[in-house]
Amino acid sequence: MLTEQVSQKLAELHEQSAALVAVYDPDDRLRYANAAFRASYYVEPDETPLWSDLMRRNWQLGRGAIITHPDIDAWLASAIARRGKLQRRAFEADLIDGRWLWVVETILPDGWMLYIATDITELRTEERELRQLRDFATRASQTDELTDISNRRHMWFMLENLLNGAHVSQSRGGCLCLFDLDFFKQINDRFGHQAGDLVLVDFARTVQQTIRLRDGFGRIGGEEFMLIMPDTSIIHAKTIIERVFAAIHKRRPIPDDPEFTYTFSAGLTQIRADDTPQSAYSRADQALYQAKNEGRDCLILAA
Ligand code: GH3
Ligand code: MG
Ligand code: MG
Repeated sequence: MLTEQVSQKLAELHEQSAALVAVYDPDDRLRYANAAFRASYYVEPDETPLWSDLMRRNWQLGRGAIITHPDIDAWLASAIARRGKLQRRAFEADLIDGRWLWVVETILPDGWMLYIATDITELRTEERELRQLRDFATRASQTDELTDISNRRHMWFMLENLLNGAHVSQSRGGCLCLFDLDFFKQINDRFGHQAGDLVLVDFARTVQQTIRLRDGFGRIGGEEFMLIMPDTSIIHAKTIIERVFAAIHKRRPIPDDPEFTYTFSAGLTQIRADDTPQSAYSRADQALYQAKNEGRDCLILAA
């Protein structure tokens, strides 16, 4: 599970994270704090203070958390009465520097505690609701309603980003693949439109589980899908698509007919530096057309 490599990466990621991350031992001694936590609560990298000492010190120096109680010992006592008692706890915390945090504490049965806090200062007022609505609208505008993967608009946006060099991969290269389910009209005719929808969802989810996180995958038409593989050679892309074929061949998505299988055809092209989204798309589409002509259930590489 947590291999040495993952532990190492987890530590590196925590150190980079904007979230405040800390671990307290069963004695309430701070045993780990990432950079964001250390900066907010004024802890040196090699320090392991008790939580109560840390709170007291910051209170004396007028920094860290806002403690309105005039008596720090009374405040600590009441805080300790609630601290470390529940498996999970979430609350708001104000910092003297004006930030507002959402804190989540998680405690193991043996008393070790994970503290994670995120800055929610900007969400404090009515704007919070507006922001949630905006995020919801953005997500809806990029999501295919039936399959929950990217829709055509989002795929086009990602393809443009890749060609602009705006993608996280920072390279303009990669591969583009188009998929079209084979004889899909017959599936609808034979099993009904709802079963057809089941097959579409099955295809979307299976492919999504087969590709990598950085790949963009979406439904761009009725039974047509697009896969963007940034930073990927044509040879590597081919092995990814072959994995997709193997995964789909194993699928039996219609419960009423456990023998039922389906296939798809694919057209693959390498994205060129001088491509527009349209030019890359039409090469892949031509390869897909050829795959249909050559009997379906196969991959054709664009010339
Ligand atoms: P080919 O192997 O040549 O691709 O044959 P095909 O039957 O898959 O191709 P065609 O493009 O003629 O048919 C696509 C069918 O997909 C027609 C349409 O009714 C169906 N379809 C499109 N959108 C949906 C959908 O959202 N749900 C379902 N169930 N069917 C859909
Ligand atoms: Mg089609
Ligand atoms: Mg089709």
